[in-house]
Formats: sequence, C-alpha cells, structure tokens
Amino acid sequence: GTTPVDQESQDARERAGFDEIHILWISEGMSCDGDTVSITASDQPAIEDIVLGLVPGLPKVHLHNKVLSPSLGGEDFLAPYRAAARGDLTPFILVIEGSVPNQNIIEGGGYWTSFGNDPETGEPLTLNWWIDRLAPRAWAVVAAGTCAAYGGIHAMAGNATGSMGLADYLGWDFTSQGGLPVVNVPGCPVQPENFMETLTWVLHHAAGSAPPPPLDEMLRPQWLFGRTVHEGCDRAAYYEQADFARDYNSPKCQVKVGCWGPVVNCNVPKRGWMAGIGGCPNVGGICIGCTMPAFPDAFMPFMDEPTGGSLSSVLIKPYGAFVRRLRGITSMAVNKEPKWRHNEEELTSGYDP
Ligand code: SF4
Ligand code: SF4
Ligand code: SF4
Repeated sequence: GTTPVDQESQDARERAGFDEIHILWISEGMSCDGDTVSITASDQPAIEDIVLGLVPGLPKVHLHNKVLSPSLGGEDFLAPYRAAARGDLTPFILVIEGSVPNQNIIEGGGYWTSFGNDPETGEPLTLNWWIDRLAPRAWAVVAAGTCAAYGGIHAMAGNATGSMGLADYLGWDFTSQGGLPVVNVPGCPVQPENFMETLTWVLHHAAGSAPPPPLDEMLRPQWLFGRTVHEGCDRAAYYEQADFARDYNSPKCQVKVGCWGPVVNCNVPKRGWMAGIGGCPNVGGICIGCTMPAFPDAFMPFMDEPTGGSLSSVLIKPYGAFVRRLRGITSMAVNKEPKWRHNEEELTSGYDP
C-alpha cells in the first residue's frame, strides 16, 4: 500500500514537474528579430539568469535561439529542432517570433520564409512546416511580439503574404501539451521584462510551482495588458487639465499630435523600456498602439490626431480649463507660509493656554 510518506513524496514530485526544459525559439516568422534583441535588455529577470539557473524554482533551461545561441550554427544549431520535430526531444516550449505567412496562397510552389533545409531533398523547410510539427508536441507555445501574436506589420492591408498571428494559424482554441492556449506577448518589439516575466511564469508552471498564467480573451497576460497607456502615463495630468502639446517639443499631453494611449492596452509608461527608463509618451513618443491586435492599420497615419482623441479633448476642454484656473488660485495659496511664522515679540499662532 501507499504510505502517507510515499504519497507525500509522489505529490511533491508531481508538483515539482519538469527538472529540465528546452526553449526552441524560431524567429523565422515574417520578422525583424527585434524581439530577440529586445529581451536581452531585461533585468527582472535577465535571460542570462534564467539560462544560468540563477532564478530559484525554475527547471534547468536549454535555450535555442539563432541570435543568442552559443552553437556554431548550421546542423549543430538545428539538431534539437529536428529531434523535437521527430518527437525525440521533450519537454520544450516553442517560441515563435514574427508572423506566419499563408503558404496556401502561393501558386506553383515556392515559400515565404524557411528554417533549415530538408536533408533528403535539400529543399527549404518552411516556417509553417516546423509549426505544424512542433506546436502539437510543445508543452507551451509562446508568441513573442505583435507579429507572432496578431500578424503585426507584415499583416497590414495590402500585404502579399497573407501573414497572420500564431493563433490565427493554429486556431484560437489550440491547446498545447501543457494545456495552455497560445500565450501572446505583444509589442513591437516586445517590452523586455513583459516577455521575460511571462516566460518565467510559464517556466514556474512547467516546474509545477505556479498555476497557468492568466490570459485575457486576446490571450495576453492579464496583469500586463489589463490597463491602458493613458492610465499609466506621466502626462495624464496634462490631459485632465486640457493642456495639450501642439508639437513634439513639449512636455504636455500628446493626444493632439497623434497619441493613441487612451485606448491602447500596454504597461510601458509604467514599466519603462530599459531598467525602468523611458516609456513612449513619458519621454515624448506618441503611442502608436504597437501592442494591439489592430496594429498597424487602425492607428495610421501615425502622426494624425486620433478621431476619438479630438472629440474627447474637445469635451474635456471647458472642465480642464476651469479646473486649471482654480488650481492656479489654490496653488498660489499653498505656496505661501502661514502668517504666524515670524520672529516678532508676540505669538500669533492662535495658541490658547
Ligand atoms: Fe520585428 Fe515588431 Fe515584428 Fe517583433 S513585432 S518581429 S519587433 S516587426
Ligand atoms: Fe494619454 Fe497620450 Fe496624453 Fe499620455 S500623452 S496623457 S497617454 S493621450
Ligand atoms: Fe507600443 Fe504604445 Fe506601448 Fe509604446 S506605449 S510600447 S507605442 S503600445
């Protein structure tokens, strides 16, 4: 029979989950490799800390990424991907960077993007070939950046490739071996810590020490994308006082020069870009909605005032101007010291013994 001690250690083993896991990262989507470059700027945690096993409680991670890998490249680099495609390497997390082109629309063969060659025929293996083999075997599938999440730049109106996001390709109801849907971490590029924090959560889940990461209906981490840029913007008080920048050389609210922050889900103004510094509108960059499923089409032309922005800025104008004047008066009052603070003969503080 099973003793309580046996049971306890079995529970512990189940909770412990995987001791080791591979990350098979493919940036051969329609991509600029910007997300791979971006994540190297993460501090909390740093990719180096994950790879070196310095984050307690995570499985040992074997990272395969063509930019960051120490391998010599070529077949050396491709070996774990080939093994995983045969079913000989588990468990692994599949990270896709870049959008997925539509191979069905190419008449007479050819390909949009490829990753290695078929050793038998010498023909290129398409990204789609790899996703078809790896996604069903992956313990988790993660989309790095807006291209992989929703299609992004390559999927804008008029594109020739029929590009789409991973969930458009695999199906929004896809579930990985670990029971997770595609985990989308959008951003163009992805904000470094947003990606690394999500990956860390997925790794903790793989170790059996955390529940699955909570995602919203667009499969984004809720805790990262639940608020708008505007709600975290350093310039929001200018908006509330209807004090708007007329050009880019101003510290005031930029809604009239093209900022979409009020309707964009992104935490970058709160979090900054690198080491907490930056954050688009905080430092003078209008928000162009680069994290959003409708990016870029819905936000173009980029430098124009958003239509909703012109209405809301008109509506807030009378309130903002009035409140600003009142605050001006109050500000003068609170910038004076009370009159009983003096070095004269008499105490005038109102003290009544
Ligand atoms: Fe490059 Fe942006 Fe696409 Fe990432 S989301 S691959 S940074 S274009
Ligand atoms: Fe909102 Fe943009 Fe103005 Fe910041 S700059 S307060 S995000 S509209
Ligand atoms: Fe992209 Fe706007 Fe977030 Fe900047 S603030 S990262 S432009 S969504």
